[in-house]
Amino acid sequence: MAAAVLSRQSQQPVALVGHLGVEPTTLAARPGSTVKPILAWLAADAGLLQPNEEVSCNSTFESGFHCFASHGTLTLPDAIAASCNVYAFELAKRVGLERISFGFTQFGLGQKTGLVMHESSGFLATPQWVATRPSSRSAVRAS
Ligand SMILES: [Zn+2]
Repeated sequence: MAAAVLSRQSQQPVALVGHLGVEPTTLAARPGSTVKPILAWLAADAGLLQPNEEVSCNSTFESGFHCFASHGTLTLPDAIAASCNVYAFELAKRVGLERISFGFTQFGLGQKTGLVMHESSGFLATPQWVATRPSSRSAVRAS
């Protein structure tokens, strides 16, 4: 089960909550997976993801990007539950770096939480930063 909470006034996302029905210790190795529900929200919000749309994961996405398993054909709920990288790469490719950068900023990624003393801001790639990378292997480009 998962839920996205939107601000009543701004209609902007303010929180995501989810429960995958698995022990937390099995999720400890994949902190990057926290962005996958946000990618799904961004894709759906832009009309780039249809309900029950399936993506096939054979553990490889284009050149150089991999999933930790070959998941086969997945719907979005399956992909979120399995934390499938290929599904997330497909969503990221559709959404594009500019929308991802803006959307992640709206969700507060890369920004201080204010919950911890001596906290630093995180790094959030922007289209401008990617453009400066000489040999970036990013599958997601600014559109
Ligand atoms: Zn996968």
